[in-house]
Amino acid sequence: PASKNQGAPSSPLMRAPPPCGSAPTPPVSMAVSARSQASSKIREFDLINALKQRYGSASPRLVQGIGDDAAVIASSPNRDYLLTTDLLAEGIHFNLRTATLIDIGFRAAAANLSDIAAMGGIPVYFLVSLAVPRSATVRQVEQLYDGMMAACRAHRVELIGGDTSASKGGWFVNIMLIGSAEPGSVLLRSGARVGDDLYVTGTLGDSRAGLHMLEQPRGMTQARSVRPANRRYLMRRHLRPTARIHEGRWLSKAGWATSAIDLSDGLSGRLRHLCAESGVGAVIELAALPISSACRQYALSVKRDPPVLALAGGEDYELLFTVPARQRTRFARASAQRQFRMTRVGRMTPAKEGLRMM
Ligand code: ADP
Ligand code: MG
Repeated sequence: PASKNQGAPSSPLMRAPPPCGSAPTPPVSMAVSARSQASSKIREFDLINALKQRYGSASPRLVQGIGDDAAVIASSPNRDYLLTTDLLAEGIHFNLRTATLIDIGFRAAAANLSDIAAMGGIPVYFLVSLAVPRSATVRQVEQLYDGMMAACRAHRVELIGGDTSASKGGWFVNIMLIGSAEPGSVLLRSGARVGDDLYVTGTLGDSRAGLHMLEQPRGMTQARSVRPANRRYLMRRHLRPTARIHEGRWLSKAGWATSAIDLSDGLSGRLRHLCAESGVGAVIELAALPISSACRQYALSVKRDPPVLALAGGEDYELLFTVPARQRTRFARASAQRQFRMTRVGRMTPAKEGLRMM
């Protein structure tokens, strides 16, 4: 509320509201459709842009506001704050038929951790807001937290607060994660340059394949011929994604990457965001896309082309990033030494060439 802000207008987190007479801005359309992933994503993008224009901050302490994986605030000469938040709604982002509350908690935390990873930051604290159906038990809420804590423990991220409400319509889980980074080191979506190589961490398409396995009872799935060990691997990749914190830190601290975004959605859509923010185009080499043998087996069993599946994918929480091409040999050697799986999948081109597949 504006009244809370009036005490200390000099603080970057407490700016005074604009004067009442400021020019009116056009209304924002609130039509966010969840009917189809694709159309809702495009509309969501337009909505966020409109919100940014109308309400976004222009504080000089704000290094990055709306439009990247996390907001970046300059806090002191040697520290920037990173802030990100993510909301999961039952029936939209998860359902209790295909995931336990432990899985849902883990995924919710991983989604936020992944945003900090994509900025090259260190995750530090988190807050959780919950809306819980009246039929839920304390044990279920504990399971949700067990999942969140499991994802956060590896990075020593600690719970510091939240909010709790009843819900008339399923579970809602919101996490806000706070991180930090060295000033000037964060990886933005806007830093890619023409001629940079394009890379991804890990493998693509596993999560989508795993979700398909979880959604269809074993005997009914088209993908009957996928081996049990591969099925388990794919389902785990969906339920327990790994946020690439170590990779993101290394890419930013050692100064390798010029830009990064996380794959909280399919590669092709995320690359579009990266290109738009950087003002460049890109060409992807389909044959170079890293695909696990399990995902290949799945793709073939459902008669899909593995690279097409990998491109569309979604929620792999890998990092998509760019590195200047002149560093290619040194980068390959250094990332292999670190035992990071990082695959060159294309390069950045002039914006007028758009997004091409090779
Ligand atoms: P990601 O997929 O990385 O989680 P999103 O697509 O959710 O990113 O959001 C893109 C950008 O828009 C982020 O900077 C985010 O903070 C901002 N954003 C998303 N929703 C809203 C909202 N309702 N109000 C203000 N900013 C938002
Ligand atoms: Mg993100």
